[in-house]
Formats: sequence, structure tokens, C-alpha cells
Amino acid sequence: MKNFSNEPFTNFALAENAAAIKSALAQVRQELGKKYPLYIGGETIYTDEVIISTNPADENEVIGNVSKANLELADKAIDTAFQTFNNWSKVEPGERAMYLFKAAELMRQRKHYFSAWLVLEAGKNWAEADADTAEAIDFMNYYANEMLRYANPPQLVTVNGEYNKMKYIPLGVGVVIPPWNFPLAIMAGMTVASVVTGNTVVLKPASATPVIAAKFMELLREVGLPDGVVNYLPGSGGAIGDYLVSHKLTRFINFTGSKEVGLRISELAAKVSPGQKWIKRVAAEMGGKDSIIVDETADLDKAAQGIVASAFGFQGQKCSACSRAIVVERVYDEVIEKVLTLMPKLTQGSPEENFPMGPVIEKRAMEKILEYIEIGKQEASLILGGERLGEKGWFVKPTIFKDVPPTARISLEEIFGPVLAFIKVKDFDEALQVVNNTEYGLTGSLYTRNRENIRRAKEEFNVGNLYFNRKCTGALVGVHPFGGFNMSGTCSKAGGIDYLGLFMQMKITSEVL
Ligand code: NAD
Repeated sequence: MKNFSNEPFTNFALAENAAAIKSALAQVRQELGKKYPLYIGGETIYTDEVIISTNPADENEVIGNVSKANLELADKAIDTAFQTFNNWSKVEPGERAMYLFKAAELMRQRKHYFSAWLVLEAGKNWAEADADTAEAIDFMNYYANEMLRYANPPQLVTVNGEYNKMKYIPLGVGVVIPPWNFPLAIMAGMTVASVVTGNTVVLKPASATPVIAAKFMELLREVGLPDGVVNYLPGSGGAIGDYLVSHKLTRFINFTGSKEVGLRISELAAKVSPGQKWIKRVAAEMGGKDSIIVDETADLDKAAQGIVASAFGFQGQKCSACSRAIVVERVYDEVIEKVLTLMPKLTQGSPEENFPMGPVIEKRAMEKILEYIEIGKQEASLILGGERLGEKGWFVKPTIFKDVPPTARISLEEIFGPVLAFIKVKDFDEALQVVNNTEYGLTGSLYTRNRENIRRAKEEFNVGNLYFNRKCTGALVGVHPFGGFNMSGTCSKAGGIDYLGLFMQMKITSEVL
């Protein structure tokens, strides 16, 4: 077991670090437009049909052409994972963990290279990309350690000469379906947790960010992870997703993404396919509609900074993003003014040039966000932004509405973009009612100096990750195990001590000596 500590973030204010990421970006630029295969078992398969991944800051720039699976290849991938399970499930936990430690170390050595792909394919600025890469490294080290811990569970009582033992064993074939917004960290974390526990998987990356996933696959191959343990299968969610989820050999699904897709997977997985021998397990981490409450005792400058960072970091495209600032009326105008004063610093432009704000991920996302902005204009007062920026790339101006009714659509529905709703409440009681009025329950934050309000929020603010006097984004592996309540998902708590248990089952043996 290694001592776990979080991978430090890079300080790009230092000239040498800025030079390092620029040089990595130049290297990645040399690799743009390449074709990537599927990896099924030991086979490298190129298909005629491809997913064309483009730069969200410039849709004409192709990041890569990624081979696209059809149903036949999906079937082959599941079958290969099923065959490989026989051997991989018998590999010692320590050996399985070793692949993760090795991959984490190699990724650390090439940290800026991975971050540069995140800048170009996902539209993250340097610090956001660096945090994504650091989290991927953390997940690998943390879950490797966790597997070593699970391999030696506390033992059972010996009764009447009977020797009782418990052991965690893997489940079988998993389907891993990650989102595009943490295309390295979440994708890698979901994958390695599923395989370090002795399962084999089919990894279907998000269609907007398949190249980053391909780079991760290359890394897994480089550290010698046996063929067929992770089968890389890009393809349309709709076209192959349902098939993978419904397959009789699929034992579990590890999903992170929207509520709509998560619920569909949960429903499909519940149906037993002919020949299926188990009840499928589903871990589904889904959307959020996260709030920050500010009461009249709060440090208002800190609150404004926390709201801005949580609402507009990575253009609001985090499940943990603050999309509702719920402020008591005594300080409501003052908090809005402080937030507006901070906004001019959030200049917008190319992630490669490290602007604080960049584009949203794709055209469809931009259109959805702009539709919500139009809805907001009917429901509340627009005080900032409210439109697309420029013609090239998918840029939406940071947008703020005030006097948003708590039951307005922009108050209740996940927009997943740079749109913040200010909601005025009479007092803290009303604030607590409003925070709990959505179907989600992922993150939240309270700015206050009132101990009683902190105590009450711990009881009544119904979210999986609740923060005080700090932003509601930026959960760290092992520090803030992450996952939400209600329609935010099954509260799997990624980066926490229970997580690996989701992908194993416990076997008890009782032997008379
Ligand atoms: P999405 O639901 O559109 O897609 C997620 C994944 O599901 C993608 O890989 C997609 O290709 C796949 N998919 C789509 N249809 C499918 C189907 N029928 N069967 C199987 N797979 C299918 O989500 P997204 O746009 O990639 O990500 C954004 C969403 O993810 C937001 O709602 C955000 O809040 C959520 N998210 C949640 C967490 C969390 O930990 N709770 C973390 C990150 C993102």
C-alpha cells in the first residue's frame, strides 16, 4: 500500500509551468486529426465509420477521427470481456492494483500532455485541465490502495470449531459509460475502479471526448494491462448503449451522465434478457441543480467569489456547478453587486490561450443553453450576458438572472452551462425550503457565520456533498467522496471508501476444521 496524497495542482503563474503546458500543446497539435482504433481483446480495429471529434473553440479543427462500433462489434466486446473475466478475476488483487499504480505514475510524468488534450478536445483552460488530470491520477492511486484494503477484510468469528471467512469477489462484465465533462478523471476513475476489483469491462466513452479516452487506453496498454480487461468501444450512446446495457452477459453498469440517460439505463437494466443469470447492478451518477445560500451574517466578499467560481468554472459544465444563488433579502442586492463587480475579470476566449472562460462542449449544448436563456428572459430579469459570443466555436456569454421565482424552470432544471439564477428569500427558513425544492440533491454550499444555521443545514440541506463558506465545486478524491441524492443518482461516492464495494460481492465460506 502506498501513502495516498492528492496530486498537487500546477501553478501556471510560474513561467516554467506555463512553458511546459505550451510545449505539451504544441506536441498535441502535431498529433491532431489522427485516426484511432477500437481495442477489443488483443485486436486493434479500424472502422470505416468514425466519430469526428472537434475543438469546441473552433469547430473546423478536427481533434481526431475515432472508429465507431456497431452492434456486431459491441457483441464482440462483451463476449471478449466475458472470456477474459475467467483469468482476470483470478489475478491477485495486489497485481491488479500494480497496473493502476504504474498508470498513475506514467500519467504523472506526462501530466501536461494529457492536460493539453483536455484543453483542445474539451475546451478546458489550463487550470481546469490540470485539475482533471490530477484527479485521474488520484483515482488510480486511491482505488489501487483501496483494493489492497478490501483484499484483507476484517475476519469473522470462529464458532464451534467452524472456520468462517469472508472475501470480496468480482461481479463479472461491466459496461462503463462516462460523461464528457471530466473526460479523463471520471472516465478513468469509473474504469479502473471496475477492473481493479477483478471485473472486465467494455468502456464506451462519451462521443464528444473519445480521443482523450483513446489516450488513456494507450496508457493502459503501455503498462501491460492484459488484453480484454478494458475493451474500448466508442459509439453512439443511443445505437450501442441500449444494446450493451441489455446484453445478457452484462453484470453491471457504471454510468455517469444526465438524469434522462441514467433513468433509461436503470429501467433497461432492470429487465431480464433471455439467458441472463443475475440481477444487474447499476451505479448511476446523474445531474445536479446546485445551490449556494448566503445569509445576512456571511462574509459577502467571500460569498461572491465562491458563487462566481462555482457558477462559471469550466463554463458551468460541472454537475456540482452552482446554478442557484439563494440570498436572504437583507443582503440580496449587495451580493449581486459584488458578483457583478467580479464578472469583468472572467474574460472569454481560447482555452489554449488560457482565458478564464472558454466555449461550451458542442453546438447542441450551446443551443440548449441559449433556449434556457430565452426561457429565463420570460421568467426573470436578465442582468448579464444572455447570448452567444462570436460566430466561431461554441461560446456562450456568462449569464445572470435575478429575481428568479423558486419554481421557475431555470430554477429547477439542469442547464449545464454558464447560467446563474439569483433567488431572493425572506430568511434562512425560506432558503432551506428553496434549496430542497428540486428533484436533485448533489452539492450545495452555505455562507454564514451563524453556528445554528450551520447545524440546521447539516440536517436539512439535502445534498450528498455540502460545503460551508467555500465553493460547491472541486471535490477531491479521498477528501470529499462525491455523489448525490434523489435524481442526482445512486450516491455511489466516487473517491470514497465504499466505492469499490459497488463492483464486488461478498462470499462467505464456513469450514469445519
Ligand atoms: P449524457 O447522459 O448525455 O451522456 C453520458 C454518457 O451516456 C455518454 O457516454 C453517452 O454517449 C451515453 N449515452 C447516451 N445515451 C445512451 C443510452 N441510451 N444508453 C447508454 N449510454 C448512453 O451526459 P453528458 O452530457 O455526457 O454529461 C453531462 C451530464 O452528466 C450532466 O447531467 C451532469 O450533471 C452529469 N454528471 C454527473 C456527475 C456526477 O457525479 N453526479 C459527474 C459529471 C457529470
